Amino acid sequence: MQKNCLKLKKLNIRYKIKSMRKNDILWAPWRMGYILKFKNKGCFLCEEIKLPKSKFIVYKGNFSFIILNIFPYNNGHLMIAPMRHIKNLEELEDKEFIEITNLMKNSIKILKKILNPDGFNIGLNIGKISGAGLEDHIHIHIVPRWSGDTNFMPVISNTKVIPQSLNELSKILKKEFKKDFKNVHC
Ligand SMILES: [Zn+2]
Repeated sequence: MQKNCLKLKKLNIRYKIKSMRKNDILWAPWRMGYILKFKNKGCFLCEEIKLPKSKFIVYKGNFSFIILNIFPYNNGHLMIAPMRHIKNLEELEDKEFIEITNLMKNSIKILKKILNPDGFNIGLNIGKISGAGLEDHIHIHIVPRWSGDTNFMPVISNTKVIPQSLNELSKILKKEFKKDFKNVHC
């Protein structure tokens, strides 16, 4: 019974990967480490925001913040989240929603400037069924895309390379956001 169950799971995973490739969706196998690392370990967004100096939070607003995804789908993958630990989009207050929208705009502008992507995927995963790795603290993903990135990313990327570039990217982004928000009140 257990064996059959395992077989079914393997088949299901294989099918998912196959259909993802078929539909040309960005596939990031190193994210499994992220999912396992944070499973049952509380909310890492709330943990990061509590730190006096987070390496990965590139901008803090009044009600929300921007953080680099530690296990990104692609280089420059940002997440924008409210400071409050809330699960649903409809729980956002107007002031949070407005600030998050502004942060989205600025994130796109800055990522365009420093990484020159060909496009973006922007979105929310709500609920486990949608693929949300962290379903209890709502966050918006901003993923820069380059032509052909679906083809080479799974082959050349690994978890050892990404944290190094993350540190450098984080420094650059922090500077850019600081410049950009000098005269902006969110
Ligand atoms: Zn949280």
